[in-house]
This record gives sequence, structure tokens and C-alpha cells, in this order.
Amino acid sequence: MTTIVVYVEHASGKAKRASLECLGAAHATGADVIAAVSGEGADALAAGLGANGASKVVVLAGGAEYSADATAAGLAATVKEHGAKAFLAAATTSGKDLVPRVAAHTDSVPFTDCIAFEAAGDAFQVKRPWLAGKCIATLTSTSPVLCASTRLNVFSPVETGGSAEVSQMAAAAEPLARVTAIEAKSGGKLDVKEAPVVVSGGRGLKESGNFKLIEDLAAAFGNAAVGASRAVVDEGWRPHSEQVGQTGKTVSPQLYIAVAISGAIQHLAGMRTSKVIVAINKDADAPIFKVADYGIVGDAFEIVPALTEAVASLKAQNA
Ligand SMILES: Cc1cc2nc3c(=O)[nH]c(=O)nc-3n(C[C@H](O)[C@H](O)[C@H](O)COP(=O)(O)OP(=O)(O)OC[C@H]3O[C@@H](n4cnc5c(N)ncnc54)[C@H](O)[C@@H]3O)c2cc1C
Repeated sequence: MTTIVVYVEHASGKAKRASLECLGAAHATGADVIAAVSGEGADALAAGLGANGASKVVVLAGGAEYSADATAAGLAATVKEHGAKAFLAAATTSGKDLVPRVAAHTDSVPFTDCIAFEAAGDAFQVKRPWLAGKCIATLTSTSPVLCASTRLNVFSPVETGGSAEVSQMAAAAEPLARVTAIEAKSGGKLDVKEAPVVVSGGRGLKESGNFKLIEDLAAAFGNAAVGASRAVVDEGWRPHSEQVGQTGKTVSPQLYIAVAISGAIQHLAGMRTSKVIVAINKDADAPIFKVADYGIVGDAFEIVPALTEAVASLKAQNA
């Protein structure tokens, strides 16, 4: 049976959903899945990952302070020790950092931000968007190990109820650099990359104060993040951390609502793989309608408050 190693990120022993999605992607191929964990709280997390598709869990040695180079060395050692044919990590900031490093350690090519991961004989293949999402490439690799990061919110976690054998891996390298402190940003707000619902606003909102409409709609959903087009970020109305698109973040939520956004190709590059896209724009010919599943032609200043009220009332009925 072929083996896949998956890096599982966590916060104080609680696995990140993006990593559980990655485990789900690996498990769906029918391969033997080894989860690799590191850092403070990793021991507590390890045994439970059997329920999410891992048959084995390797706890990488290392101090409480995260080191990308030492973690990558440990992951590559795990891949080699188990003869794994693939290495996966979620396309988070850490995952994007680790995948190319593991690829370098294993003489392999990294594939980033993949939206499909499938078995192809005793190897694997991935699909990923190309040319700002205008086409989808199917890729396989002649490298010894297929190293890939998976786009967030595309794959589903699994609940197998299984158990995993846990082992420890000695440090494969002394850290060259360590993270000594992390400053949390913007008081517990959901990040656009991770939120299941994203409500984004564009230049058609006319001024920064009008983003209150977008914030209110996001708040009515309860599990939504606020996003923005680059035009809005360039105006200084919203922070760059909220920008969706080619030079911002790539999102793939269950629901993406684009309010007063024209749908320039660079914006579409960051959101066109969203499961359901709703566009609100007063121009019926706006390009955003070409990718939208549902379109509302009209004035955002009338439609968004009505939508907020409807969402809040449905939430109240279902509470
Ligand atoms: C190299 C490069 C990288 C880029 N990267 C990004 C990126 O990452 N993300 C990104 O978003 N853009 C990016 N851009 C910019 C992109 O090309 C567009 O300029 C930008 O997305 C436009 O933002 P917008 O849709 O908010 O504004 P506009 O294009 O000005 O569109 C505003 C829309 O609001 C509608 N509207 C106006 N009033 C109302 C109303 N009352 N009710 C409803 N609708 C209304 C209008 O009909 C219009 O469609 C990039 C560009 C370049 C060259």
C-alpha cells in the first residue's frame, strides 16, 4: 500500500480544520496516511488523529518554539523512513513555507494550492488553477515524492472513528531559525482564508464608512469574514489582510458574496473556486455575473440591508 505523510498544524493541541481537510484528502485516496505533528500540545493531539483518517502519527521532536527548517527536516525524514510517495500540508502560511522545503529535502517538485488530489496507479496526481484560475491543470510528478499544499475549504475532513499508532521522531536537524513570539492581529476576527462565508465589498461602496453594511451582513451570518477588492485596499478603506485576489488572498468558502465588485480577472483569481458565489451589482453587464451562481442586479445600499435583515431573521427562527 502506498503511504502519504500529512503535516497537521494545531493551536495548543487543537488541530486546524485546514489540516483535517488535508488528512481527509489523503484518506480519500485509500492510501496509508501518516500524520506528522510538532510543537507544544502535539502529544495530546496525536492519538486523536486516528479518528480523522491517520493510521499512524509521528510526533516530531523539537522545542516549544517553531522552526520551519527543523520541522521540514523532520518531515522529510518521516517521508523517507516510511517510503511515502506523497507529502501534503494545507496551504496555510506554514504549509506554504514547509512544502517547498520538504520538496528540496526529497529532490522533488512542490505543487502549490491544489484543489484535487487523486491516486494514479501507485503514484498521485493533483489539480491546481493556472493563469489566475482561467484553467485547471492536472499534474503528476516524476519526482520521488509528490509534495503538495492543498487549498483551504476545498477538501472535507473525515470522521472514521479509527485509532492511530503514535511514535516519536528524533530531531533530524538543529534549528537554524526559531519563531520566538507571535503577535495576534485584529482581535479574534475570522480570516477570509478560513471562514466558511466571506462577504466582500468593492469600490462601488463609495467610502470606507459604508463597509458597515458589509460588516453587518457578515455579523448576521455569524461565521463570516469581511473581504475586499484591491481597489478598496488601495484606497485605504480596508486592510490588506482582507484583500481577495491575485495579489491578495485566495479563498474558497462555502458562500462568497461580492458586493459592488466589478469582477476583474485579478479578483476572480482569488475567489472563483468558492462553492456558491452571489454577486450584487447595479451593472447587469459586470463581469462578476459570469462566475456568479446567483446574481442580484441593483443598488447595494438597498439590497444589502434587506439581505442582512433576512439572514438575521432566519438565524433567529433556527436558533
Ligand atoms: C497586477 C494586478 C494585480 C491585481 N490584484 C488584485 C487583487 O488581488 N484583488 C482585486 O480585487 N483586484 C486586483 N487588481 C485590480 C483589479 O484589476 C481591479 O481594478 C479591482 O478588482 C477593481 O475593484 P472593484 O471591483 O472594487 O472596483 P471597480 O472596478 O471600480 O468596480 C466597482 C463595481 O461596483 C459597482 N457599483 C457601483 N455602485 C454600486 C451600487 N450602489 N450598488 C451595486 N453595485 C455598485 C459597479 O457597477 C462596478 O461593477 C489587480 C490589478 C493588477 C494590474
